[in-house]
Amino acid sequence: MSTTEESPKKSLNFIEQIIEDDLKNGKNQSQVHVRFPPEPNGYLHIGHAKSICLNFGLARDYQGTCNLRFDDTNPEKENVEYVESIKKDIEWLGFKWNDKPLFTSDYFEQLYQFAIQIIKAGNAYVCEQSAEEIANYKGTPTQAGKDSPWRNRPIAESLDLFERMRKGEFAEGTLSLRAKIDMASPNMHMRDPLMYRIKKDAHHRTGAEWNIYPMYDFAHGQSDYIEGITHSICTLEFEVHRPLYEWFLDQVYDPSRLRPRQIEFARLNLSYTVMSKRKLLQLVQEGLVSGWDDPRMPTISGLRRRGYTPKSLHTFADMIGVARRDNMIDLGKLEFAIREDLNKTALRRMAVLNPLKVVITNYPEGKAEMLDAVNNPEDETAGMRQVSFGREIYIEQDDFMEQAPKNYFRLTVGAEVRLRYAYFIRCTEVVKNSDGEIIELRATYDPESKGGKSPDGRKVKGTIHWVSAEHGVKASVNLYDRLFLTEDPQDVEEGVNFLDTINSESLKVIDAIVEPALLETNVGDHFQFERMGYFCTDLDSSSNRLIFNKTVGLKDTWAKVSQN
Ligand code: ATP
Ligand code: MG
Repeated sequence: MSTTEESPKKSLNFIEQIIEDDLKNGKNQSQVHVRFPPEPNGYLHIGHAKSICLNFGLARDYQGTCNLRFDDTNPEKENVEYVESIKKDIEWLGFKWNDKPLFTSDYFEQLYQFAIQIIKAGNAYVCEQSAEEIANYKGTPTQAGKDSPWRNRPIAESLDLFERMRKGEFAEGTLSLRAKIDMASPNMHMRDPLMYRIKKDAHHRTGAEWNIYPMYDFAHGQSDYIEGITHSICTLEFEVHRPLYEWFLDQVYDPSRLRPRQIEFARLNLSYTVMSKRKLLQLVQEGLVSGWDDPRMPTISGLRRRGYTPKSLHTFADMIGVARRDNMIDLGKLEFAIREDLNKTALRRMAVLNPLKVVITNYPEGKAEMLDAVNNPEDETAGMRQVSFGREIYIEQDDFMEQAPKNYFRLTVGAEVRLRYAYFIRCTEVVKNSDGEIIELRATYDPESKGGKSPDGRKVKGTIHWVSAEHGVKASVNLYDRLFLTEDPQDVEEGVNFLDTINSESLKVIDAIVEPALLETNVGDHFQFERMGYFCTDLDSSSNRLIFNKTVGLKDTWAKVSQN
C-alpha cells in the first residue's frame, strides 16, 4: 500500500504512523483523502510549502487524493488575485489537486442547512448579545462563564431569527448564531462558540448573496466532512479546537459516510523570517519590499524569483520533517537545500561583480580568441562553451591587493595568477587616479600557458575569474541579505515593532560585467557565477537589460562567522 515498503529505511513520521494504523484497521474504508485549505487572503509562503509537501505527499504515497480547498469564509480580506497566485504556486511545486479547486463558499447553502439541523436539535441558538457582552460572559480559563440570556429561547424563535439574519434584516454585530455547549467547560473554545456572524461585505465569489458567514471552526470541519476527508492535517494552534471539531461533527455525522480526524503538527518557523500573512501584507503595503514576489520575501513566489527550485523546497521539507512541537528552523537549512540542487544543475558562467580593468601589455592589440570552458563540472552532459579572451579584461577588485599578505594567492604586483580557462598572467603595474584609487592594472601573460595549464611545471596557486572587456556585457545584479536582523522577528520584545528590525541593507544593486553567453538566458534560468555564488535571471530581465538575482552564496558564510 505504501511506498515505505519500497524504501524500508525511511522511518515513518507520526502522521504516516496514524495513517498506516488507520489503513490496517480498515478505518474510513481504508481510504486516504487529505486537503490543503489556504485562506485566499495573501500569497503562500514557505510554511505553506511545508504543508503542501506534507498533504500532497501523503496523497501520493498512500494512493489517496488531496483536495485544494479555498477556505473563503471571510469576505473582507479575500480576493481572486490570491486565489490565482495560490493555484500557480501549488502547480509550480509540482503537485496536482484532486479534480478542480474547491471553495468553502460553495458549501454555504449546505453549511446553512447543517446549522438549521443543529438549531432544530436544540444545540444552537441565536444570541442577541454584543461582542463585548459575549466576551464579558465568557469567563476566564479558571473561572466558568455565564449563560447568555438568549441561550434557552425557543427553537422556533432561533430558526426564525436565523433565517432573517440570512435575509439581511439585521445589522452587523447585533445577532449571532451560537453553539449551545457548555459555558463552564475548561476549554474556552467550548463555551458556546459562534457559528455564524452577520457581515454585509460582498464576497469575491458569492457577491451579495449572503449576509451571514460561518466561523472557521464550524465551516472547516463540516467542509472536511462534506468532501469526505479522512485526515484533516493542521497546525498545532488548532489542537485546543479539536474537541469543538468533534462536537460539530457529532451534530451532523451520518455513520455511512467517512469521518475526518484532525491531526496537528508543528508549524514551520524560520529564523530571520516573518511568516504571518498579516505581517507579509504589511511589508507589501508599506512598500518595504517591491511586492509579494520580492526575492527577499519568504513567499513561494518570492523564493521562485530569488532562484529557489521546486526540488529544493521538497528537499527542505523532507529535511525538517514533521514535528509535534514548535521549533525554529535555521534559515541555513533552506540555503543548504538550494545549494545542493543548484550545484548539480546550474550552468557555470563568469561574471565580474566589481570590475577592475587589466591590460595585458604583451597580448597583441586587436586580437581576440575563443577559449574552451566547462559548463558544469558536476554534469558531463552540460558540455562546453567558448569564452572570448582579449588584451583587456575585467577581474574582481577583490582579487587584487597592492600590499598583499604572504598567504594571498590572488593577484598582486609581481605575482602570477591563473585566469580560469585562459592563461597565467603576472601583474606588472598599478595605475591610479589623482585620488590614489586603483583604476587599472597592467600585466603580461604567458602565451605557453593556454587553457590555464602550466607550460613548465611551475606552480600558480590562485585561479581567478575574468570577463573580456571588449565582449563582456553589462548586467544589473541584485545582491540580497536577510530581510530581518533579529533571529525571531515574529516575536520581538514588547513595544518593539517587527518593522524596526528590518535590515536596511537587505538589497544592494550593482553593475556587473558578465560573459556574453549570459545573453542567451530566459527568466528563471539558474547559473553559478564562478566563485561568486548562485544567481538566476530576474522576471524583469531582457536582452537589452540583463538582471540577475543572487540566490545564495557558494558556502554558508553565516556558519563561518559563528565559528570564528
Ligand atoms: P498565516 O498565519 O501565515 O496567516 P494561516 O494558517 O492563517 O497562515 P492558511 O491560509 O489558513 O494560513 O493556511 C493554509 C494551510 O497552511 C493550513 O493548513 C495551515 O495549517 C498551513 N500553514 C500555514 N502556515 C504554516 C506554517 N508556518 N507551517 C506549516 N503549515 C502552515
Ligand atoms: Mg488560517
